Amino acid sequence: MYKIVMLGPPGSGKGTQAKFLAKELNIPAISTGKIFRDAMRKGSELGLKVKDRMDAGILIDDELTNQIVKERLQQSDTVNGYILDGYPRSIPQVKFLESLDSITHAINVDSSDEIVMKRIASRRMCKECGANFNILFKPTKVENVCDKCNGELYIRSDSKPDSVKERIATYHEVGDPILKYYREKKLLVDINGEPSIEEVWNEVKDKLKI
Ligand SMILES: [Zn+2]
Repeated sequence: MYKIVMLGPPGSGKGTQAKFLAKELNIPAISTGKIFRDAMRKGSELGLKVKDRMDAGILIDDELTNQIVKERLQQSDTVNGYILDGYPRSIPQVKFLESLDSITHAINVDSSDEIVMKRIASRRMCKECGANFNILFKPTKVENVCDKCNGELYIRSDSKPDSVKERIATYHEVGDPILKYYREKKLLVDINGEPSIEEVWNEVKDKLKI
């Protein structure tokens, strides 16, 4: 059985690999963002708490995040395993997850800061329809024009260099201790996230023996 957590810097492509794994293993890929949205939609007590905090612009703390993940992992679709993307994001979250269940693999889809910077800086979004593009991997037919609606493309504020630098610094601050923790537990699987999506996927399959 595979109970996987996906780790790695923003822009490493871990979300894409999580989706591939979910399809290949026929288990759910659970992203924290989606857990929050689902809990809010269901209108559960915890979901309502998340909504209150989000509406007020308050950060979702470890305790609430942990309870939300616990609630999600109790759903029946996780009985044959699951992939967590975006959780755990702190050592208290790591310890909480450990108290709930024994994960089998912590996959570290790694990329150098330089490559992460370049990939995120290449992201573009359509002003009109919100479609996402990347001038490196998914360029539009006409430069700066949306393929879907001909809208103008722009760079989101969180894709601008200063913001990306900050996100990478935060990632190392909170992410490095998590990698160290799972490495010591012999659960960490190091994957080079720098080659093409297909090459990364082949390495994931090789190392997980699937
Ligand atoms: Zn568009």
